[in-house]
Amino acid sequence: MSTSWIVTAQPNISHMLELTGQRGDSTVVVAVGVAADRFSGADRVVQIELPAAVPVEAVAGFAAEQVAAEPGDVVLAGTSSADRVLAAAVAVQLDAPIYRGLQELEAGKATVLQLGGVLEQTLSLSTPIVFVCEPGGPSEGPCPELTQVSATVDGATVVSSDKAGSQATNLAAAKRIVACGRGFREEADLHIAHDLAAQLGAELACSRPLAEGVSWFEKKLYVGISGAQVSPELYIAVGISGQLQHVVGMNKSQTVVAINSDSDAPIFEQADYGIVGDLYAVLPELTKALAR
Ligand SMILES: Cc1cc2nc3c(=O)[nH]c(=O)nc-3n(C[C@H](O)[C@H](O)[C@H](O)COP(=O)(O)OP(=O)(O)OC[C@H]3O[C@@H](n4cnc5c(N)ncnc54)[C@H](O)[C@@H]3O)c2cc1C
Repeated sequence: MSTSWIVTAQPNISHMLELTGQRGDSTVVVAVGVAADRFSGADRVVQIELPAAVPVEAVAGFAAEQVAAEPGDVVLAGTSSADRVLAAAVAVQLDAPIYRGLQELEAGKATVLQLGGVLEQTLSLSTPIVFVCEPGGPSEGPCPELTQVSATVDGATVVSSDKAGSQATNLAAAKRIVACGRGFREEADLHIAHDLAAQLGAELACSRPLAEGVSWFEKKLYVGISGAQVSPELYIAVGISGQLQHVVGMNKSQTVVAINSDSDAPIFEQADYGIVGDLYAVLPELTKALAR
């Protein structure tokens, strides 16, 4: 019996709890600066209280020490920038590697996707490994056993915070997603996707080239093996070809609608409903029809 750790500053971590729950071992969450009443499914929560104006990053070393005091073979952290700092601190403390693309955890081994989803690797957990993965949504149920600790802090304090206009989207928890691909010719054309998303109450996402090639979207909004892994009730892929690296990030969606002008586009193999057509004609019509 080994302990799985989750080290996070995020309140909603249902996906990480599902992954550690697959092993049937004990799961301990180190919750940094977040209320610990949301982690149903964990066996125990160590809640690190953050003094006012102290950022998560300033207690990363302290959080890592909690894990090192009772190390297990697996440590999970989320994909937010604060969680990545926590993952790095734990990896340094345990002298452990960091992986992405975690698919499954079992006793003594983990399965990850590598090379953009082309290769599935099985890793031995004979020594600890840190995984950065999608956190998931809220988990409801009874609160686990709670230990509260005060962090030893040295370093940074926040002296002021101002909104910088960035979107606070949690794609992993989204119920509906409209995802845009390279079928869009100009950034200015995205308004037709915004209109459809607003009509559906959906979040907007994209394929990687729109976030890393042309920066029309924030990087956290692209879906795929190296981006967000999503599982909404509805995923509408607009002008996305459906390459494997994109598909592994969205193939757990309940219902997939694909809109593409090429009837041979691989995305149609993933789709429950397909519209072969020009997105510039289809999207405004669809939005109009939904508004009726
Ligand atoms: C290591 C590695 C990791 C990667 N990770 C990711 C990842 O995490 N996520 C990801 O998305 N990609 C990833 N990629 C890139 C991936 O391989 C594809 O290149 C990318 O997903 C393609 O994006 P796209 O479908 O938007 O563009 P394209 O493949 O260019 O497809 C555009 C589609 O739009 C259609 N289209 C064009 N005009 C219209 C129109 N007017 N109306 C309707 N349809 C139209 C075309 O028929 C085409 O199917 C990765 C690649 C590598 C090598």
